[in-house]
Parts: sequence; structure tokens; C-alpha cells
Amino acid sequence: MAGTAVRGRLTWQTATVGSVVDETPQVRTISLSVPDWPGHRAGQHVDIRLTADDGYQAERAYSIASAPGEPLAITVERLDDGEVSPYLTEELRPGDVLEVRGPIGGYFVWEPADGGPLLLAAGGSGVVPLRAMLRCRMQAGSSVVVRLLYSSRSWPDVIYRAELEQRAPGVAVIHTLTREQPAGWTGYARRVDQQMLAEVAWSAAQAPLAYVCGPTSFVETVAAGLVALGYSPGRVKTERFGATGS
Ligand SMILES: Cc1cc2nc3c(=O)[nH]c(=O)nc-3n(C[C@H](O)[C@H](O)[C@H](O)COP(=O)(O)OP(=O)(O)OC[C@H]3O[C@@H](n4cnc5c(N)ncnc54)[C@H](O)[C@@H]3O)c2cc1C
Repeated sequence: MAGTAVRGRLTWQTATVGSVVDETPQVRTISLSVPDWPGHRAGQHVDIRLTADDGYQAERAYSIASAPGEPLAITVERLDDGEVSPYLTEELRPGDVLEVRGPIGGYFVWEPADGGPLLLAAGGSGVVPLRAMLRCRMQAGSSVVVRLLYSSRSWPDVIYRAELEQRAPGVAVIHTLTREQPAGWTGYARRVDQQMLAEVAWSAAQAPLAYVCGPTSFVETVAAGLVALGYSPGRVKTERFGATGS
């Protein structure tokens, strides 16, 4: 059985697009039906491979947006000059097929038994695997307390906004809007810095567990800032999406 599971993770499988949902003008969630999907944990990712008519192939990594037990879903931000994300966010339709490989990763994973308190920090689409963790927590009925510090360019760019506004008990969402703020905005309006982390993060004495995800520069700033606040480096888990971001 173990051999079957390993083969499942490493083998490209055909996935059929179920639904596509616009989260923001730039971001779309795509649900995928994979016949032999082995299941996944919150925080893992998949590789997606596209093949053009002339045989040219491109593959990219995407975090899994859905909780364990939910159908596989990814949430993709369109980079206008990108190769793959414009296709996924603009061209893909329900019923289309693509290839998927996964689930991948065992380090940037949270399960209710890992406990907390949890400090989640997201830059832009870095919120995707953290959303899977929040949904996992909710489904498990976990009472682990969570603070999500979420940096977006503007209010319309906030991904999963309606879901995050539902204010689940024990979960605090703290937004910072780096480029544009709505009239009357009283929240943070700058990039995450040391002062903000000191105000938002759990105290190191509470032995928190942190997950930081987003563009590389965001992840490095936040992870270093948390360690400077006394967080144990081994309890600050990071996932870098690459150089792009807000
Ligand atoms: C583990 C992991 C999880 C991820 N999860 C997500 C997710 O949940 N959602 C999400 O939206 N993204 C996620 N990403 C990022 C994703 O994999 C892609 O990198 C992203 O979608 C951009 O792909 P693209 O093909 O559209 O852009 P690319 O064509 O790869 O281009 C990306 C950027 O690099 C620039 N660029 C490309 N080639 C060059 C070059 N030769 N010289 C200079 N600049 C260049 C482009 O102008 C563009 O701005 C994740 C990445 C990783 C590693």
C-alpha cells in the first residue's frame, strides 16, 4: 500500500476542471477532479502541467486551497506577463483537462494535533495554503487560537474576503493594505515591518507555531522578524512563491 501511495504522489494524473470561481479581478479558484487523488494535508501543494498542441510543456507549483477531505482546489493569481497563470485564470473552463502531480510537501503542513497558538502570515496569494489550514481547523472543531496577518495591495485584492470576514471564533484576521485603502480605513496601511509584528504576533513566551507564505522578500522579512521577537526558528515554517508579489 505504501508503494501505491508513493507512486500516486510522483505520477502525473489527469485532472478535470470542475468549477472556476473568481476571488478577485486577478485571482481565480479552480476545483479539480482527480480520479485517484490520495488525499492531502493542509499546506501541501501540487504541480500543474500544461501541454500545448505542439507538445511544449510548462509546469508550475500551486498550493492546495482546500482542506483535507474537500475536493482538490487551487487558487491562482494572474501575472499579466506570466506564462502559465494567465491561461489558468482566463482560458480554463469547466470540463477542461490538465495534468496534476501531488500532493507534495511534508514540512509546510499543519494538522490539529500540531496545536498552537498559530501565527499565520500571508503576502498576496500566500494566503492560499493558510486558508487550507483555517478550513482544516474549522472542520476538525479545533480550539487552537489563530492570528492571520494578511498583506494585500488593496481591499479588492483580498482573496477569500467573504470567508475571512465570517469571524470564526478563536481566529483574528489582521489586514494590512499596502497600496490603496478604502475611505475610513483604520487598519494597517504599510508593508509588514518589525513594529507591526510586535503588535500582532503572539508573544514568544506562548511558544507559538508560525506559518509564513508569499513572495520571497515578504517571507524573509517576516520570518526574520519573528525570530527577532524570540520565536524558535524551528517553529517558524516558510513557503516561498517566488520573486513576485505586492
Ligand atoms: C510551493 C509553491 C506554491 C505556490 N502556490 C501558488 C498559489 O497558491 N497561487 C499562485 O498564484 N501562485 C503560486 N505559486 C507561484 C506559481 O508557481 C507560479 O510561479 C506563478 O503562477 C507564476 O507563473 P507564470 O507561469 O504565470 O509566470 P512566469 O512565466 O513563471 O513568470 C513569473 C514572473 O517572472 C518573470 N520572468 C519570467 N521569466 C523571466 C526571465 N527570464 N527574466 C526575468 N523575469 C522573468 C515574469 O515577468 C513574471 O513576472 C507557488 C509557487 C511555489 C514554489
